Amino acid sequence: LPVLAPVKAPTATHCPYCALQCGMNIAVEAPEHGPDETVTITPRQDIPANAGGLCQKGWTAGELLTGGQRLTTPLLHGEPVGWDEALDFITDRIRAVQAEHGPDGVAVFGGGGLTNEKAYLLGKFARTVLRTSQIDYNGRFCMSSAAAASNRAFGMDRGLPFPITDLAGADAVLLAGGNVAETMPPFVRHLAAMRENGGQLIVIDPRATATARQADLHLQPTPGTDLALALGLLHLVITEGHVDEDYVAGRTNGFDAVRTSVAAWWPERVERITGVPVSLMRRAAAALGGARRAAVLTGRGAEQHAKGTDTVTAFINLALALGLPGRPGSGYGCVTGQGNGQGGREHGQKADQLPGYRKIDDPAAREHVAGVWGIDPDDIPGPGRSAYELLDALGTPAGPHALLLFGSNPVVSAPRAGHVTERLGALDLLVVSDLVLSETAAMADVVLPTTQWAEEGGTMTNLEGRVLLRRRALAPPPGVRSDLEIIQALAVRLGAPAEHLPGARPAWTTPEEAARAFPVEPREAFDELRRASAGGIADYAGITYERIAAETGVFWPCPDPGHPGTPRPFLDRFATPDGRARFTPVEHRPPGEDVDEAYPLYLTTGRVLAHYQSGAQTRRIAALNAVVAETFVELHPDLAERLGVEHGRTVRVVSRRGEAEGVARVNPAIRADTVFMPFHWAGANLLTNPELDPVSRMPEFKVCAVRLERVG
Ligand code: SF4
Repeated sequence: LPVLAPVKAPTATHCPYCALQCGMNIAVEAPEHGPDETVTITPRQDIPANAGGLCQKGWTAGELLTGGQRLTTPLLHGEPVGWDEALDFITDRIRAVQAEHGPDGVAVFGGGGLTNEKAYLLGKFARTVLRTSQIDYNGRFCMSSAAAASNRAFGMDRGLPFPITDLAGADAVLLAGGNVAETMPPFVRHLAAMRENGGQLIVIDPRATATARQADLHLQPTPGTDLALALGLLHLVITEGHVDEDYVAGRTNGFDAVRTSVAAWWPERVERITGVPVSLMRRAAAALGGARRAAVLTGRGAEQHAKGTDTVTAFINLALALGLPGRPGSGYGCVTGQGNGQGGREHGQKADQLPGYRKIDDPAAREHVAGVWGIDPDDIPGPGRSAYELLDALGTPAGPHALLLFGSNPVVSAPRAGHVTERLGALDLLVVSDLVLSETAAMADVVLPTTQWAEEGGTMTNLEGRVLLRRRALAPPPGVRSDLEIIQALAVRLGAPAEHLPGARPAWTTPEEAARAFPVEPREAFDELRRASAGGIADYAGITYERIAAETGVFWPCPDPGHPGTPRPFLDRFATPDGRARFTPVEHRPPGEDVDEAYPLYLTTGRVLAHYQSGAQTRRIAALNAVVAETFVELHPDLAERLGVEHGRTVRVVSRRGEAEGVARVNPAIRADTVFMPFHWAGANLLTNPELDPVSRMPEFKVCAVRLERVG
């Protein structure tokens, strides 16, 4: 693999982490991959999401590029080997597994941090080379409930269907289950601008988080009761006369059934379930009802439940009754989490979708995508298992026996992680592509060292649906390959599908043709993605690298080069067949696992400012570890006193699935019936409940029953 000459001038690109995708400039000095190499990061002013701001994760991201924990050679059973040996081993094992178990014997697991180009080619590789239906990605664990609810209501899911800067002009913002002050701090500037203009911030969270402490109103419900709270707020909006009747009549269907169903959710009943005082609910409903422009936003706290889709639907019903979606300066939006959580769910690495956010069981969608891939529509397999179901099935008689994993760390991030680790251990073949030896990579048969954000090009789609350009700022270390190169190399080695899978009708029959079908240049992959997405919901056909650079991002849908992009897609009509938004009646129900005598406390999980997702990257950065170096258990002083737990002492948290230890942090900011653990370290997800939402297949990360024990 040739090592390209390093680029020395500052390069305008984006942060490697969250969905805000803050713009940053990277200056590289002495770029020889030696001890003198330095990377300096400064924020860009031209990207509206951050407009000159970064959080500590962004400021310190250069250490990812220069730090010493980088993988630079493939590992086979823990031993360094050459690329040919590693790839030949993988190829032989895949052939053997598929010969014994069929195409679905091999599974692919992607990530919400992969570029659009990687997500697209990974989906194409799974379906055309491996011919497996078994592909899903960790975004299923992120915002899939909000996506399902948005599709249900609007016929389309785009995180924020309006520019983030619209928030500054709102009179009220309701944020349910999001802690942006820690997860994406530059987001707060938009909320702060709103408040400086006289607007009110209302936060729903079981903890008095850094975001909740800035709010005008903080509603602190029992974990797992957000749905009841949303129903109670809608009840008050209706009874207090805040429904926008003209909007409801002109732009929506189904309100009468919702009006009838929420009649039973009177505030006192909701207070009994949620613990939120009626007076606070009334103030929140009045603030929203009296706002000329307002937004209702949800985050993982509302979404990561076995009833997550219905919970988000309840908040969307609230927003629709207030007449917000599709109105300038107002709306409903999901605060997407992962860096490319939005684009990652649009281009085919999801079990039930094809590029362009098309449904895999839609005959027209299959025909279009098959045409781009040059195969027969009947040869597109799927839909397959959702993320947790796929992981749960690994190594079982009916499940996959080999797994190729890109950009994910399920040993830390999957629910019921101890069980998932067992399932990974039962595989005939586990291949992990990563830049560091994550907990999951450490147990792989083969580890493939891959390039990272500033070493490669590509596009990312941020939480606004704005497609952004990730530019290469420096060359990768020698020995490292991009995921696109890895996918191509495997496609070439595995040859035409017909070689090992009788009946498939491939578009290519030679290694040269396979190489052309799986380009390693991001721009070529993006051009094919544009064709594959054309006519779909997430239509990228008119977006080019040049346009993104010239326009600091282009909003999809953008169906042709002359189209300006669509910052606010619902202004005239929704993406439903009749153009009207859909109300859907939903009912509250208890969490999958409620507290009892043996497990008397709720556990909820989340993030801290200094770390990102499973921590595979941020736990390797000294400046971030200096802030928070280990996991902890947050508990209320009353609970601490009752259990005899002192601040700083190690405690054990036990659920029906496992146990984890952490340092006690006694803090009045949390409810006395609830403990909190961050999920950046192996531990919290040993405890979490994998019960799935019936629509989105989202696990119930945000609430389970636990007990607390003193250690020693
Ligand atoms: Fe911005 Fe998110 Fe990166 Fe922080 S982690 S700098 S908020 S993109």
